[in-house]
Amino acid sequence: MKTWEKNIRKVIPYTPGEQPNQPDMIKLNTNENPYPPAPGVEKALRELETSSLRLYPDPTSGELVRAIAEVYGVEEEQVFVGVGSDDVLAMCFMTFFNSEKPILFPDITYSFYDVWAELLRIPYERPALDDRFHIVKEDYFRENGGIIFPNPNAPTGVEMPLGEIEEILRKNPDVIVIIDEAYVDFGAHSALPLIEKYDNLLVVQTFSKSRSLAGMRIGYAFGNPELIRFLNDVKYSFNSYTMNRTALAAGTASVRDQEYFRKICREIIDTREWTKGQLRKLGFEFQDSRSNFIFASHPDYPAKEIFEALREKHIYVRYFPKARIDNYLRITIGTRQEMETFVAFLETYMGKREETYGSNRTVVFE
Ligand SMILES: *Cc1c(COP(=O)(O)O)cnc(C)c1O
Repeated sequence: MKTWEKNIRKVIPYTPGEQPNQPDMIKLNTNENPYPPAPGVEKALRELETSSLRLYPDPTSGELVRAIAEVYGVEEEQVFVGVGSDDVLAMCFMTFFNSEKPILFPDITYSFYDVWAELLRIPYERPALDDRFHIVKEDYFRENGGIIFPNPNAPTGVEMPLGEIEEILRKNPDVIVIIDEAYVDFGAHSALPLIEKYDNLLVVQTFSKSRSLAGMRIGYAFGNPELIRFLNDVKYSFNSYTMNRTALAAGTASVRDQEYFRKICREIIDTREWTKGQLRKLGFEFQDSRSNFIFASHPDYPAKEIFEALREKHIYVRYFPKARIDNYLRITIGTRQEMETFVAFLETYMGKREETYGSNRTVVFE
């Protein structure tokens, strides 16, 4: 080992889902939205003056913060924005998790949390989900240095009722509780109203899933003005200009079109419910998902084998080779047609269909 090596901050990085790029692929592996962003986004991008890019963007991200505050009915002082919710969450870890006591998050959850904790040397403990993949609220009633979990949880899709979240908040008045609502727009209940009642609550959301802007990188947090001020202090101590002009324009246009937003969320929810029915018919087992994915397992077909067979047909889902979940597939909800193709493949794979699954898949549905 070189002498300088002992002073290097080493970390085992988060592994993002694979980003394949085949023209005929069906991409159901990273929970992206199958629909394009709101029409206003294209207009905003077209109208963006290239010459304006020579100037720094507004460090306060004022227009985007204002738009989010108006649409969600909160004060601007209650909103923080960042480069995707990953950036917002990383800032939250840095700002709020500085105790000697361990922070708590579930054993099966978003796999970035332990990476940030390791990177920032934050002690943590991971209470196990129960055998139905539900978070056990009582596990969060003990002494801790902070709490974070997604609601609905990822990759399980299971929603914790707001009443239980409130119980966790009531038992933890001395630490910050972060609810990561990356998937809340697909039919779950947001903890946003609770920020008025609990000054230690932060609610984090993203434009990546329900607003079809994963490629633009916009995330945001709601909390009481004091928490938002602390977050901004850390942000300004790290990188003042997190949000670029393009993202500010696109994000503002997106959040101002609530009608389109509701329409595509509704579409995805309907397709999810249809897909649940099809998967059930094929013998898959899963907890009820309130997100834009289904986390499913089959008693007779190993998940890894299905994953690989799908992959060969350029249908990508997510497989996690991890304890407790290595026989599950996380299937993102695509368009209805994509899900029909996906289901048709499974039917053939499981021998429930006579005809072979052909390479010219569109023929089946047109
Ligand atoms: C996708 C996701 C995020 C991060 O999304 P961004 O693209 O960084 O906004 C955060 N938390 C969970 C649980 C997610 O699934």
